[in-house]
Amino acid sequence: MRKNTETVDYLIVGGGLFGVYAALYLAGKGYRICLVEKEKALFRKASIVNQARLHGGYHYPRSIATAVMSDDHKERFTAEHRPFIHFSFEKYYAIDRFGSFTNAAQFERFCEYLSIRCEPVLQHPLIDFQRIEALFRTTEYTFDPYLIADHYTRRVQEASAQIDLRLFTCIRQAEQSGDKWAVELQDAAGENPATLLAGAVINATYAGSNAVNRQFGLREIDLMHEISEIALLSAPTLQGLGLTVMDGPFGSIMPFGKSGLHSLSSVAYTHHKVSYENLPHFDCQRQRADCRPDLLADCNECAVKPRSNYRKMFAQMKQYFRPEIGWQYFHSLFTIKSKLRANYIDDGRPTEINRLHDDPPFYCIFAGKINSIYEIEKVV
Ligand SMILES: Cc1cc2nc3c(=O)[nH]c(=O)nc-3n(C[C@H](O)[C@H](O)[C@H](O)COP(=O)(O)OP(=O)(O)OC[C@H]3O[C@@H](n4cnc5c(N)ncnc54)[C@H](O)[C@@H]3O)c2cc1C
Repeated sequence: MRKNTETVDYLIVGGGLFGVYAALYLAGKGYRICLVEKEKALFRKASIVNQARLHGGYHYPRSIATAVMSDDHKERFTAEHRPFIHFSFEKYYAIDRFGSFTNAAQFERFCEYLSIRCEPVLQHPLIDFQRIEALFRTTEYTFDPYLIADHYTRRVQEASAQIDLRLFTCIRQAEQSGDKWAVELQDAAGENPATLLAGAVINATYAGSNAVNRQFGLREIDLMHEISEIALLSAPTLQGLGLTVMDGPFGSIMPFGKSGLHSLSSVAYTHHKVSYENLPHFDCQRQRADCRPDLLADCNECAVKPRSNYRKMFAQMKQYFRPEIGWQYFHSLFTIKSKLRANYIDDGRPTEINRLHDDPPFYCIFAGKINSIYEIEKVV
């Protein structure tokens, strides 16, 4: 380690919402932070490329734990992000008559258990009931990922006295050195090495979690990964409406925050390629030297990303609407979605924070839901 090595209280790896929120939270407590992000800007991956659903629990009839956790943080997240949340639309959940893992009675009982609004609706001018066993009016909003990204990016800039932000940077190697972590950083092209001593490390790299855990010689978490697509479309007739069809290989169409667009996703067609290994391995990586299982590139900028499935998603969701509904495809966002393998069956998305090393501490945040950012406050 060189003599002029910088020392910080926390090294946070990953500049999505969870890494950024952790950095601001700890800076607010007076700690000195180094926040390292591999891309040239913050918020380039899952924190932007998602369905923007401010989960109220409805989505998880098979995972009470995830449903309760979503509902736990909903109020605080809503209060603290009010300008970035789209409130003014009616949100419906429908149960498909065919192939659903739930039915109308079970879904109502589940909502009653969570004490969340679930009002049966017997007819709707835009919705076709042929495929629907039941339709429920609920209370669920969407957040605007781009407005949230702008807000937090500004806050990181304002906290520059305490947060040393290093973009286009990743870890070359790491080891324990007494009561600190000794970390060698380099730019994402593998050049410009720099050294750092950190009192604690927080790994908030989501799809990159296991690659970073490995660099510190720590335990991996059992993950699977999917190259995922969110299609964005213009649907003026659906301006005041969002619909999610449950529970299984169905889909959702919802306002994408305050953008004026709708997001379209489908359990069957959003996910293009799957990797069941702890590090994400995809065949397209063979065509891009700079996208490796241990250091992923940005799918949005990738020339060999999968072709859009938006037509299949359209065809699937069209079945739930009256024929006069019109929509126009705009474009698609791609990223890698990672999941805990343990949730393969129940489709749960808990946020887990593991303390993988005690002295010096090392935490790995694996985030399931945007509104669970506050979980970090319980741990560090
Ligand atoms: C398709 C999809 C739909 C979703 N829908 C919803 C939804 O509707 N509602 C909801 O609440 N949640 C949803 N989620 C989940 C939610 O988006 C994630 O839980 C959350 O964004 C994860 O945030 P993060 O900061 O941990 O990860 P990210 O935003 O992915 O940030 C991780 C950062 O780490 C960086 N990084 C990775 N490796 C390294 C490295 N070695 N060195 C330096 N930097 C590195 C990456 O470049 C990235 O910027 C969805 C996720 C996906 C993918």
